[in-house]
Amino acid sequence: MMDDRFKSFCASVGLGDSQSQTLVGLDLEQRLELACSAAQSCIGTENVAVASLNQTVVDENWSQSCIAQPYCIAQPTNANDVAQIVKIIKHFGVKFALRSGGHSPNPGWSSIEGGILVDLQKINQITLSSDNKVASIGPGARWGEVTSTLDAEGISIIGGRIPAVGVGGLILGGGFFHFSGEFGLAADNVKNFEIVLANGNITNANANENADLFWALKGGGPNFGVVTRFDLYTVPVRDIWYRWDMYAVNHAHAVLDAMVKWQNEGSSDLKSTVALIIGLEGVTVGLIYSAPADQPSAFAPFYELPPPIAAIVPPLNGTVKTLTDFLSNTFSDQPLRHDYRAVSTRIDGQLYRDVYELWRERALASRQATGANQTFTIQPIPKNLAEQGIAKGGNPMGIPREDHQWWTTVVDWTSAGDDDAVRSVSIDATKAWNTLAKERGLDLSFTFTNDASRDQNPLASYGMDNINKLKQIALKYDEAQLFQKQQNDGFLLSKV
Ligand SMILES: Cc1cc2nc3c(=O)[nH]c(=O)nc-3n(C[C@H](O)[C@H](O)[C@H](O)COP(=O)(O)OP(=O)(O)OC[C@H]3O[C@@H](n4cnc5c(N)ncnc54)[C@H](O)[C@@H]3O)c2cc1C
Repeated sequence: MMDDRFKSFCASVGLGDSQSQTLVGLDLEQRLELACSAAQSCIGTENVAVASLNQTVVDENWSQSCIAQPYCIAQPTNANDVAQIVKIIKHFGVKFALRSGGHSPNPGWSSIEGGILVDLQKINQITLSSDNKVASIGPGARWGEVTSTLDAEGISIIGGRIPAVGVGGLILGGGFFHFSGEFGLAADNVKNFEIVLANGNITNANANENADLFWALKGGGPNFGVVTRFDLYTVPVRDIWYRWDMYAVNHAHAVLDAMVKWQNEGSSDLKSTVALIIGLEGVTVGLIYSAPADQPSAFAPFYELPPPIAAIVPPLNGTVKTLTDFLSNTFSDQPLRHDYRAVSTRIDGQLYRDVYELWRERALASRQATGANQTFTIQPIPKNLAEQGIAKGGNPMGIPREDHQWWTTVVDWTSAGDDDAVRSVSIDATKAWNTLAKERGLDLSFTFTNDASRDQNPLASYGMDNINKLKQIALKYDEAQLFQKQQNDGFLLSKV
């Protein structure tokens, strides 16, 4: 039922100065109470939970380290609802967090203790243009649903590899996909962003309209507004070849060497890519080719390896959907604490092996002490990935224009008391990457936002010119700096 106090507020969406005066002297809790009541009035009580929160929604974050109890949860159903919520947040001067899929493991990025959680999962539409060239996707959709929907039409997009991950955060952080070497990052394949700005205006950012904002959103994160729709160019890829093998962990060096050989020789075939994840008990290698094939020659270095201990997926002509479905089983759905981390370097077998050995010793000791599981992942980045970004209008990320690698790790553990000890393994591995790479002339300053941990500063790695430009754009579209000052946390420009 409409709370009478907010009738004029919802109609005009914004209180006059005289009404703003009524906030003077109110403490934070009183302002939050009013803001949440206003939100209920404006977008419906069924879309705003206050007091009796749905615990399933509270607990939606992938990492237990992110679970926090908001004062209320707003679940807008469309851009107009988001506009109302943004104006309410601004007016009442309260803190908020934005959440699409909740898969960032960084505490406070997409959860909040005591403020307003704006959960976008009801804005999850997936539609296709009549010519199948553009897919329009809500931020609250998950990549699994996106892949299934597009598969039925014989196409795909450059998006996320793991089905449960959300659309919103992944694209705004860049978005690395299997075929990014061929087509660029997800953000590079966006035609248009629909965004709610800090003043509540719903606008579009594309090559012709708000072109500066369009550039900024391609990797600039949650600094400019709430994106309510992504229009992405589709790619003509559906039928693909892949295989997935598990090697004994004592073959890790041989696999790393094969990776380097493929990066130097095979990866110029841009249809080929490799997923390499070294765990504590085995080495997983996924070979993926973005077209139907039969043992593509690009992967020759891997065919020379000792036989795998398990053919998890024997060589197969499948589809992007069958691959995505398979990958849904590769991440634990147990409620655990998680972290990830990002570093980039040039390609070098000795460097890969040296850091791997340092990491493995520490990760084994950490498992012994805490039960934590950790992985060591080399993501191959061909020069063409950066070139695609430039060819498609440019982005602010400053990705090195050379073949290189983005190391990452996924860390799972249970006890909050072990947070520091467990995280110190990947923190020290990052230091080792940086130190050894620097000594050997192999360092690159780029840090991929979507793999960056809470204490890293990926935006700073985009380069000073890009940062200055991003800050100017943030100021132009958000004069009062709502997204810097009232947003709970995140990779914010104010922290760079
Ligand atoms: C299992 C797993 C697999 C992954 N695989 C990939 C991968 O293949 N490729 C890749 O690039 N990354 C990958 N990632 C990293 C992933 O892209 C990031 O964690 C990303 O933040 C998740 O998006 P989300 O919407 O689920 O995140 P959320 O936690 O909901 O949001 C992350 C950040 O984005 C902001 N945000 C979210 N939606 C909006 C919006 N609509 N408008 C403005 N700001 C918004 C949030 O406030 C927060 O700061 C993976 C992560 C996990 C855990």
